[in-house]
Order: sequence, then C-alpha cells, then structure tokens
Amino acid sequence: MVLIDETHDPARRSWVASANGHPDFPIQNLPLGVFTPDGEEQPRAGVAIGDMILDLAAAAEDGLLAGDAALSRAVEALADGRLNAFFALGAAPRRALRARLFALLSEGNPRSMAAEACLRPASACAMQLPARIGDYTDFYVGIHHATNVGRVFRPDNPLLPNYKHVPIGYHGRASSVVVSGTPIRRPNGQRKGSEETAPSFGPCRNLDYELEVGIWIGPRNALGEPIPVSQAAEHVAGFCLLNDWSARDIQAWEYQPLGPFLAKNFGSTISPWVITPEALAPFRIAQPPRPQGDPAPLPYLLDNKDQAEGAFEIELEVLLLTPGLRERGLAPHRLALSSTRHMYWTVAQMVAHHASNGCNLQPGDLLGSGTISAPEASGCGSLLEMTRGGKEPVRLASGEERRFLQDGDEVLLRAHARRQGFASIGFGECRGAVLPAPQPAA
Ligand code: MN
Repeated sequence: MVLIDETHDPARRSWVASANGHPDFPIQNLPLGVFTPDGEEQPRAGVAIGDMILDLAAAAEDGLLAGDAALSRAVEALADGRLNAFFALGAAPRRALRARLFALLSEGNPRSMAAEACLRPASACAMQLPARIGDYTDFYVGIHHATNVGRVFRPDNPLLPNYKHVPIGYHGRASSVVVSGTPIRRPNGQRKGSEETAPSFGPCRNLDYELEVGIWIGPRNALGEPIPVSQAAEHVAGFCLLNDWSARDIQAWEYQPLGPFLAKNFGSTISPWVITPEALAPFRIAQPPRPQGDPAPLPYLLDNKDQAEGAFEIELEVLLLTPGLRERGLAPHRLALSSTRHMYWTVAQMVAHHASNGCNLQPGDLLGSGTISAPEASGCGSLLEMTRGGKEPVRLASGEERRFLQDGDEVLLRAHARRQGFASIGFGECRGAVLPAPQPAA
C-alpha cells in the first residue's frame, strides 16, 4: 500500500511559484477539495497548489487531464462538484490523477501556459465541504486523552477495562459538520454544576475544542459484509483536521448512560482539503509497540502489515486567538503540540472494527480519531485536560485567562508532516470562531 514514487521527490518544483517551499501545499501534496469562486454558486473540484487552486473541471475541459481509463474515471467522477463519487473509486484512479497533476504542475511542463489559465487564487475562493457526509463517527483512540479525562473522574483507574480491547467510538451527527471558517454558535443546553441542586437550561459554560484527525471513507462495503483489517486501508480516501467542539458542562450531565449527545452535535469543524493516502505515504510509521502487559489486539484487528506501516507521524497543533490577542496585534497562542503517533489504534483498525459487525461504510462517511493528546502537559488536545476541568487557567500574552472558550475566541488547528529526505506537507487550517449563544426561549 505504501508506495513512494516520483511524486514524492523533494527536488521537484512547480511552475506555480508559491508552491515551492509552501508550508502546506507544495507539489508533493496535491490535496483535493471543493471550492466556489467568489461570486459563483456552483461548487467545483480543485487541487491546492501553493496559494492557488487548480480548477479540475476547467483543466479537464482544456484537455489537460486526458489519459488512460483510470484517469478518465477520476476526471468523470470529479465533474460532480463533490468528492463522493471520486472517493468511491479507490486507489487506482486517485493515483492516476495524482501522477497527472504532478506532471502538469511540475516545472518544465510544456502545457503550463494552458494550465495556468485554470488556476484561481485561493484567497478569491470559498472552500466548501469536500463531500456530502452520510454518516459521522467519532472514535476515542487518543490514549493520553482517554487517560487524562478518565483521571478527572477516576484518579485510581483512569482507563476503563475495555479501552485496550475495543476501538471505542460513538455515532456523531453529520448534518452539523461544517467547513473551516464557519462560526460556531455557543450552544444552549441543560447543565447542572456539581454545587447546583437542580439542572437549568442556558448557554454552555464550559465550551471546549477537541484536536482530532478526520478520516474520509472511500469505497463502500455492502451491508452485512465486514472489512478485513488487511483491506481496511483501501477503504480510506483521505484525511483532514477535525475540531470536535464539546460542551463539557452539558456533556457531564447528559452522557450517562448512552454517551455524547447534544454536547457534541451542535457543530464539528473540518479542514477543507483532503490529504490523500498517497501524499502521506512518506510519513507512515510502524504502530508504536503497546506498553508491556497490554493485551494483543484480537485477530480481527491485527494485521502484520498494518502494524508495520499503518500509523502516521504527523505533527498536530492547536492555537487560540482571543479578542485580547487580536486587539493587541499579538500572534495566536499555541495551546498544544501533539502527534498522530499517540493513537492507540490504527486507522485500519478503526475501519475494520466499525465494519466488523457488518455495518456498511459509504463514500464520504467521516470518521474522527478522537482527541489526540501527547503524554506531556504541553500536548493536551482539549482545555478539559489542559486546565484540569477548568481548575488551572491558561494565561495569555494579552493578560487574559482561559479555563474554557469565551465568545469571540477563535480556535485554529494545523497539521504538518515532516521527514528527512522528503518535502514537508501540511493539511491547511481548520479554524472556527465562537459566537454568543442564542437567547434561550422563555
Ligand atoms: Mn471527539
């Protein structure tokens, strides 16, 4: 599955000048997304290259994407203006498209003049959700997050006994997944503080973010037909960043016994660009060995190849921009630095587990990894962990303090993959600002 080829050559440059050395979108990345040029309404598929977007429909019209059967299938599927049909095709058409785009955008390509006419400045386009999301499932594979959160409630026994046997997850809500840049309204909800004798309804008091990676599902499995873990990677079309906004006070009151509900489904923000498995191939690593004494995964979750190369080394970052920082012209405050290496289960294990009972996954379904915290205090993927439930506030250069998010705060997630001998690539931003809660109905 993990193929390194010409498209990963760090020496290759693009005739799109801003791509060379771009922190997110050099020619070695080529993420796909859906955009709307300013003033237009029809969503279009595109690929990010530096500060520009190559309009794929326009490039196809100009004959720049003509080729073999695999490439033709990819181009046909992309005409839809959403990526679902493209996701459904799987690896071969996706690779054919990558190879063609790499050649087309490479320095020295004789058709660069024609291709240049299909470029749009990203700043003059609005990014859209890349696909119609049929279902959204959120996992809980960040073991340090699970431990930190568990410790708040059960100091002696932070991890529940199932954690190391089952990739824990719950069904989230697809309708409220929004693209980066969409403001998030603080939810109203029912909450009951520990000192309160009765619950009340009103604005969430403990609004939080969660640093997660999103996984886009590609080819479907039929209802009733599980996906073997050895084939699970082939059902993944790509990756994004995901902020699983969480209302901690609402969550604490509502979650027993069925788990997250209204504390989570008022909004989840994703980054717009789909980073392909091919772009991430150089950043695959072996799944870090389980600590001594941990159980081995059950056979349906264990595949040697997946263990050898199914994890990723991707740096994850959370930044906070508050009204105070903004007013003083100060930079966003980095709240946390973490890595995808802290996932206790691989993506293939999550997919295989999800389908192990015959549940059908569909192109454009979105999986969340769960909050990915690092073991260090500087790597907490949520404020719940970082401030120990609001007890230890974060101090900012503006003089402000935060226990949880306030109205006007903006949360930015970023991700970068780096490896000696390869071009670094990034995911682009996943950002969202908090708006005040609507006035609750009397
Ligand atoms: Mn989550």
